[in-house]
Amino acid sequence: MKIAVLPGDGIGTEIVAEAVKVLNVLDLSFEMETAPVGGAAYEAAGHPLPEATLKLAKDADAILFGAVGDWKYDKLERALRPEQAILGLRKHLGLFANFRPAICYEQLTHASSLKPELVAGLDILIIRELTGDIYFGQPRGRRTAPDGHFPGAEEAFDTMRYSRPEIERIARVAFEAARKRNKHVTSVDKANVLETFQLWKDVVTEVGKDYPDVTLDHMYVDNAAMQLVKKPKFFDVVVTGNMFGDILSDEAAMLTGSIGMLPSASLNAGNQGLYEPSHGSAPDIAGQGVANPLATILSAAMMLRYSLNQPEAAARIESAVQAVLAQGLRTADIWSEGTTKVGTRAMGDAVVAAITKTTITKS
Ligand code: NAD
Repeated sequence: MKIAVLPGDGIGTEIVAEAVKVLNVLDLSFEMETAPVGGAAYEAAGHPLPEATLKLAKDADAILFGAVGDWKYDKLERALRPEQAILGLRKHLGLFANFRPAICYEQLTHASSLKPELVAGLDILIIRELTGDIYFGQPRGRRTAPDGHFPGAEEAFDTMRYSRPEIERIARVAFEAARKRNKHVTSVDKANVLETFQLWKDVVTEVGKDYPDVTLDHMYVDNAAMQLVKKPKFFDVVVTGNMFGDILSDEAAMLTGSIGMLPSASLNAGNQGLYEPSHGSAPDIAGQGVANPLATILSAAMMLRYSLNQPEAAARIESAVQAVLAQGLRTADIWSEGTTKVGTRAMGDAVVAAITKTTITKS
C-alpha cells in the first residue's frame, strides 16, 4: 500500500503529522513518501505541483493531503498559486467523485447552529461530480454581446454540460456507496429549468433500475438547500453535479458546526483517491499547535476504506475519534465549557492511545 503524503502549507504539516502517527500504529505496512505541494512546493521548486510530486501522486494507491494556500501568494499569477496544485491533481488523476460526509457527533451537537434534535446523529454523504459541469464546460469567456438584453455590451458566459457517461459513472458511485449505508440516494438537480439536469435526472433514474435495493428520490436544488436545514436527517447519500455539490457540501458541513471535524475524498475510476480535510490551510492559526487534526485523521480512515480496502482499520480510527470526544478532549475550535482543551499533538496522541487502548499522560 503506497501512500503519497503531501502536507502542503499552513496547518497542513501539523495535522498530516498526526494522521501519519495514527496510520503508523495500525499494524499495517504502508510505504509512505512525503513531497512538497502548494506554496511549499512553489518555494522549493518554483511550481505548486512539481513534476516529482505529481509522479509520486500518480504512482501511489492514495494521497494523504493536508491543505494548501496562504495569503502571501495571492499576488502570484493564477497558474502558480498554491490552490492550482489541487486542480492539477484532480485533472491528472481523473478524480471525478468527491465524497464529503457531514457527520454530527453526539458530543458536538451544541456546535451546530441548528437545534440539537435536528442534527443529533446526522450522517449524510454528499457525492459531488468533480470534473464536469459549468466549472469546466467550453466555450466560456468574455466578449461583446452579439444579442441578448444588451447587444453590444460587455458580457461573460460559461457553459453547463454533462454527458451521459459522466452522469452514469457518478450515479453508480452513489448507488454503490448507498448500498454500504442506509440504501437511500437523493439526486439533486434543476431539471425543471435546465436541459443538462433533465439529462442528469433521466440517466440517474435509468442507473437506479440496476439498484432495486436502493431507494432513489429526486429533489430540485433550491428545495434541497432548504431541506438540509429543515430536515437534514432525511438524507443519506446525496448525489449532484459540480456546482450544486460545491454549495450544498459546504452547507451540509456547517450543519455539524465544525469544519475541523470533516474529512473528504476524491476518487477516480480505479479507486485511487486524494484524501484531505474539508478545511483550508488556516494561516491564522498555523504554527501554534492548536489546529484540530481530526478531519485529517478521519480522512486517513476514509483512505483505508475506499482506496486501500481496509474497512476494519478505518473503523478502528473512527471509533477512536468517538472515544476521545467521549473522554471530553477538544481542540480550541470545538471546545466548550466543561471539556478539556488540548492542542494538535495531544489530540493525535489521544487517538493513538484510544487505538492501542493504552493510556498516555496528557501533554
Ligand atoms: P480555512 O478553512 O483555512 O479557515 C477558515 C477558518 O477555520 C479559520 O478561522 C481557521 O482558523 C479555521 N480552521 C480551519 N481549519 C481548522 C482546523 N483544523 N482546526 C481549527 N480551526 C480551523 O479557510 P480560509 O481562511 O478561507 O483559507 C485559508 C487558505 O486556505 C487560503 O489560502 C485558501 O485558498 C486555502 N484553502 C485551501 C483549501 C485546500 O487546500 N483544499 C481549501 C480551502 C481553502
